[in-house]
This record gives sequence, structure tokens and C-alpha cells, in this order.
Amino acid sequence: MVVSERSEQRPREITHWSDPHSETTSIVEGSGVYVYDDDGDEYLDFCSQLYCSNLGHDNDEVAAAIAEQVGTIPYVSSAKRSPVREELAGRLADISPGRLSDTFFSISGSEANEMAVHLAREYTNSSKVLTRWRSYHGGTYGAGSLTGDPSTRAALEQHAQTTGTARFLPPIPRAFGTDDPEELARLAADHLEFVIRNEGPDSIAAILTEPVAGTSGAFVGPADYFQRVRDICDEYDILLISDEVIAGFGRCGEWFGIETEDVVPDMITFAKGVTGAYVPLAGVIAPPEIGDMVAEEGMDLGQTFGGHPVGCAAGNAAIDAYADGVIENVQANEPVLRDGLADLEAEYDVVHDAHGRGFQWGVEFADPETGEPFHDPRTDDGDNPVDDLLGTCRENGVMFGAGRPTIQVVLSPPLIADADELRAGIDALADGIE
Ligand code: PLP
Repeated sequence: MVVSERSEQRPREITHWSDPHSETTSIVEGSGVYVYDDDGDEYLDFCSQLYCSNLGHDNDEVAAAIAEQVGTIPYVSSAKRSPVREELAGRLADISPGRLSDTFFSISGSEANEMAVHLAREYTNSSKVLTRWRSYHGGTYGAGSLTGDPSTRAALEQHAQTTGTARFLPPIPRAFGTDDPEELARLAADHLEFVIRNEGPDSIAAILTEPVAGTSGAFVGPADYFQRVRDICDEYDILLISDEVIAGFGRCGEWFGIETEDVVPDMITFAKGVTGAYVPLAGVIAPPEIGDMVAEEGMDLGQTFGGHPVGCAAGNAAIDAYADGVIENVQANEPVLRDGLADLEAEYDVVHDAHGRGFQWGVEFADPETGEPFHDPRTDDGDNPVDDLLGTCRENGVMFGAGRPTIQVVLSPPLIADADELRAGIDALADGIE
């Protein structure tokens, strides 16, 4: 490697790799549910950028809270007390289900998941973590090894220490060959129990799962599935960690996605929407037993920017906004997405399946003759019509998310979108399919 001469094609920013259209669009401004590129072209943001700009792109209250905190004191050591941090921890406890009361702040969703796994391993004195095939839990070494998505794992597995994770099948018809929700719930839960028994229940610290899948396609578990998962965890003394990095903060119609399942997890991890994505912030919410364990053992979990006061100020203002009509908006307008996508499914034979909850939906495409995806996500080579569809929609002024694997489109509009804006997104998808 020659490093003494600079290439003419550089500098270049290569943070994110998975969006095939990212190189063509440079976003410079945002307003409400719209973003604008450097040519002044407007896009309806139907992916909330990376499933996180929940409050739209110009929320004055969050911006003012950030400015006020920066003007007061921008940073306080994470090893010192900070009123804005304590206020947010209190609010998170108030909105959390069951006895979840103690928050450990971090910076990104990946780090929050790693922290939750660390806590679970320490608490149970076991090491394995079970995660789903078709999941995404982060891209850092630890969180990437928890992730089921092959494109994230493949690069990591050559180098990272990935032992300690075992996987199970997600509760989706493709995995179990049945569309019947009751049968699917039973088969998927039985399969999970089979995996646990084969891995050895005593070796397993936790099951880490998204309540509604995020980037891997917004699929939801059939009714009663998560209750069985909860029962299985209780039976085998395994902790249940709900990854709410996308599903939390109203995206799936409740404060946390797992609440719709009537299940209380042992820990929740959060990031993205907690600040409406105005600044980075993440964390783990745990019950008192785990908080006490950390205090008694003097476990050192702190990160310099964990619970950054500017992030916490944004979080406090964002929670006010969610409580002040934003979650209600999701509940009121969910039918626009549900019905609109059901119409697409009925109208176009290439739409294999549309599924989701709240403002988080996935539309999976397949060859109507074979029922198989147009594109093989295992090899990731060859033409992929779903990429073309995403590109066409973008040219027509609407941004959707590229699901992983790329056999689907993910719809994840800001939670402030009204019925007309939601209909405009569905219409653009229909035009793209045409
Ligand atoms: N968990 C889920 C469900 C996610 O979707 C993501 C990111 O998209 C993460 C964790 C990782 O979060 P971050 O990118 O902030 O590290």
C-alpha cells in the first residue's frame, strides 16, 4: 500500500455502503417530511433517512432545547451528575413498561446492544445470546456479530470474535411454510425452544430481538408468538432484550414496539428516535436488579459521550413532542398505510407480501410464477429490480428504505406525516411498480 501520494479521486466520504443510490443524492436541507438536495430538488422522505427522523426535519422545540443546552453547558462528564440526564432517565422510566426503571446511556444503537449483552452476561453468568436470522443489531464488531443480516456479518466474520451468538428463524411464513398465524406462532416458538435445548439453556444469557423488524423488512410476529417467547425465556431463565432502536418512540404505534405484544422484556435498547435523530443518543433501560448489580459490582460501563447533555436535552424535548400528538398521529393514520399497501398487494402480482405496524412497513417483491425473490440476497449479484424501483421512486421525488436483504422496500415515514403525505408515498410506490 502506497500512502505517500494522494489520489486524484480523493477525499471521499464512505460511511455508508448499502444504499445503491446514495452517491447520487446529496441532502442539504430539510423541512417537515421533505428533504432537499444540492440541486434544490425536493424529496418526500419516506424512510426518515435511516428510520430515525421521526419528528421531521425542522422541529423548533428540539432545536431550541439543543441550543439552550449548548448555551448553558454543552458537556458534563458522564461520571458526574447532570440534571438534564437525570430528567431524561426519569422520563424513560415513566414511559417504559413493567419495572424497567434504570437507564444506562450510550451513543449509538450498536453500543446500546453491546451494553445490554454485557449486562445480561454479567447478570446470568452465561455467555450465549440468541438472535434471529434476518435481524440487524448494529455494525460494530460486537453488535455486528449479533446481527443476522448476511451482508453485515459476512465482512465481520472473517476477523471478529463472533462466538457466543446462535441464531433462530424469524416468525415469517417463508421460514416455516405456512401463512396461518396460529400455526406460524406455534412452529416458530417450538423452533426457538428446540434451538435453546440444543444450545444448552444454561449457556444462554439472553434472546435479543426486534419486536417489529426494522431494516430487515418490518415483519411482525403472529399473535401470541412473543408471549410464547416470554414464557420460554421464563422457563429457561433467559433474559429477553427488546431492540427498540427503530421500533421505539412511537414508530410502531406505542412508546415501545413490544408493548403491542403485551409482553414486558427484561431490557430495552434504544437509539435513533429518542432525540428524533437531531443528535446521537442511545441506551439500555433495565429493571432495578440490573441497576443494583452494576452499582454493587462497580461495573464500569461509562462512555465519554454516553448520555451527552445535548442529546439528553433533545431527548426531553422529543419525548414531549411524542406525547403531544405524534404517537396519536401514528395510531390515527396507520390505516392509510395498511389499506394503501393492501391495495398494492391486490393490484400488482409482483408484490409478494406487505407487512408492518404503525409507520414501519415492508413490501416484499417476488416473481409471481415461482414465489421466489427476483434477486438472490445470498450472492447479491445480478440485476435487482428492487434497486431499480428504489431509483425510480427517488427520481420521482420519494425516498424509500432499501431493506436487507434487498428483496423488499421499507416504508418508514416521519411520525408527523399526515394522511395526504402518506397517500402520496403509496402512490409514488405504485407509480414505480408500474
Ligand atoms: N438495532 C437496530 C434494530 C437497528 O436498526 C440499528 C441500526 O439501524 C441498530 C441497532 C444499530 O444502531 P446504530 O446504527 O445507531 O449503531
